[in-house]
Amino acid sequence: MDKNISNLIEISRFYGKNKEYVIAGGGNTSFKTRDKLWVKASGFRLSDITEKGFVSLDRNILKKISKKIYCNDLQKREDEIRNDLAASKTDTSSPLRPSVEAMLHHIITNNFVVHTHSTVVNALMCSRFAKKYSNKLFGNKVLYIPYTNPGYLLYKKIEKKLKIFEEKHNVQPNIILIQNHGVFVSANTISEIKNIYEYLISRIREKISGKTDHIEYDISSEHLNLVLQSVNMIKGYRESAFKIMHNSLVEHFMKSKETFKQIADPFTPDIIVYCKSKYLYIDDEQTGADTISSRIQAFKEKVGYLPKIILIREIGCIGIESSTEKAGYIQDTFFDQMKISYYSDNFGGPHFLNKDDIKFIENWEAEHYRQNIFQDSNSNTYGDAMH
Ligand SMILES: [Zn+2]
Repeated sequence: MDKNISNLIEISRFYGKNKEYVIAGGGNTSFKTRDKLWVKASGFRLSDITEKGFVSLDRNILKKISKKIYCNDLQKREDEIRNDLAASKTDTSSPLRPSVEAMLHHIITNNFVVHTHSTVVNALMCSRFAKKYSNKLFGNKVLYIPYTNPGYLLYKKIEKKLKIFEEKHNVQPNIILIQNHGVFVSANTISEIKNIYEYLISRIREKISGKTDHIEYDISSEHLNLVLQSVNMIKGYRESAFKIMHNSLVEHFMKSKETFKQIADPFTPDIIVYCKSKYLYIDDEQTGADTISSRIQAFKEKVGYLPKIILIREIGCIGIESSTEKAGYIQDTFFDQMKISYYSDNFGGPHFLNKDDIKFIENWEAEHYRQNIFQDSNSNTYGDAMH
């Protein structure tokens, strides 16, 4: 195997295995030469990726995509770009799908690119003073991008801002921070990538005060049975699996309606894709199976779907999905949401996605991504949200 590709696999797994950087199918990586780009294909996880998980694209065709003017209609535009990206594959018979983020990897000039939704980075990126602190901590070392809907619009926004940055500083930044989303780190070697990430994370961590660890609590069989009983009473949950987690951080946010507000809305597109945008909080004094199931039903009537995340005071945070593995993924994602919220207090407090941005992801995801997430249930992969 080409040394560069084995390096790409190594760096992908390194971050892919660490939940502080990548959860489930989040994040993506690439390596490029002058003419070719190897980028993670949709539907693969970084944690156990092999050469087969990367799709190679002809950069001369990507250059044309970058110059082309696309239709303003969202649906049509996404279809056109998908087709153009498919046509850029060096092996057009390959079934692999490059995501639209491949264009972001293409316009970054460094050879290796590692995009993650790092928890610590997002503690800053999902805070009220994201921009101010990015400036203060990193100055011209980073390019800060205000939240933009993922897909073509985000790619175009970054392309434009990169150009302005390059004109001003004669060089591209190694770090691109995206509000309510994550970070793109690029360099010409994988050891440089690691150094840059270390620098980035340690600078932000220096500003995070207070406890950053948590204590795990045991789940009693009584509570487990109560949840099982309640879930079984709901018709729509019959084929589902659930997982409960209970620890000091969960407890912190379950204290009251006020504390729950700090995690009640999604921070990033990934949260919406995995956990949806509304979560049920039950704080009744007496919680029997009847109370819990009726609260779930009421939630469904109000919001339009059954909750995937339920927080029940004194019991814990429950993730419900179609398999235990997927329930674990959504629980990891929501736990990340809690950590982001907790740490963001050091940067002015949490900053959620706004209503329009949430709506965009809900619609967009329904059209393009949900299928991808659920059709993979027989394979090892669990969708890949934005990627
Ligand atoms: Zn992303």
